[in-house]
Amino acid sequence: MTSPAPHLEIRPEGLYAPAFDAWIDPHAPAPRAIVSHAHADHAAAGHGEVWATRETLGIYRRRNPDWIGEARPLAFGETARGIGAGLTLFPSGHILGSAQVRIEGAEGSVLYTGDFRRGFSRTATPAEAPPSDVLVTETTFGLPVFRFPARPSLEARLVAACRAAQEEGVIPILLAYALGKSQEAALVLAEAGIPTVLHGAAWKLLPEYEAAGFTFPLSRAYDSGPARPGEVLIVPPHCARTPVVRQVKKRRIAYLSGWALREASRAEHDAEILLPFSDHADFDELLAHAGQVAPRRVLTHHGYARDFARILSSRGVEAIPLAEGGERSAEDP
Ligand SMILES: [Zn+2]
Repeated sequence: MTSPAPHLEIRPEGLYAPAFDAWIDPHAPAPRAIVSHAHADHAAAGHGEVWATRETLGIYRRRNPDWIGEARPLAFGETARGIGAGLTLFPSGHILGSAQVRIEGAEGSVLYTGDFRRGFSRTATPAEAPPSDVLVTETTFGLPVFRFPARPSLEARLVAACRAAQEEGVIPILLAYALGKSQEAALVLAEAGIPTVLHGAAWKLLPEYEAAGFTFPLSRAYDSGPARPGEVLIVPPHCARTPVVRQVKKRRIAYLSGWALREASRAEHDAEILLPFSDHADFDELLAHAGQVAPRRVLTHHGYARDFARILSSRGVEAIPLAEGGERSAEDP
């Protein structure tokens, strides 16, 4: 079949790399999967074989304790040989262990971003942008309305909001994804001397962060008791209307996500405070990444794929949304 990207076939089930007889971030269990990072929408349970960074494999195992497949760890920059092509992982700056996948051979080269972010991160290795013939880029925030403030200013706003709530005698509750955002928020608050209570879904992943050199001296698990005055409770967004949150009578909820730029997320999550703390590239970063990779063609997927492809085309860059079979929904992460 003809493909708009070298070394990749776009099939109804997702992206297939024939040189490695492997699927990239397949949604369903696959005999061999190349997994960009451990968020559930990229790391389905039950693969026969998983190729990923050591960190991603560690998180994958913790999230899928019954997994009996085979792990193939790949370091950043290490090249695995396939039939007529080499596969190399590059950091994507999204979460701990997250990678972009680059395949190069006689047909040319292709870079698949997975989820990525170019700005400062406390726990992710900074993204690289290796030049490639074709770029397959995520476009979660591929509209010009999505421009995030610099991370240091967001961190300062987070600390100030928590302190202000505590001075008023209310418990700050952060709605943050269990993998990535929760740990980053805990590190930010620990640096400010503010203790945190972590939901079990985030807490159980801490050993993987500790193995990577991060420490959480001011964090404890929610299982050891509800948050007390002076502590900050961090839970996944889906907990906003559950007893974990509602039993805290004097509370103030902050929502940490790129989607916090949408005023509607205030009502959706009962959040008083919106902090657009994102692990994804914003619109300008998407443009910058495409510029630096300098491909002859861009394939867009995830989120605003059609809009961002149109925007790139209007700037003279050949860009098309990945075939319908490869489309993902606009979910974060
Ligand atoms: Zn992700």
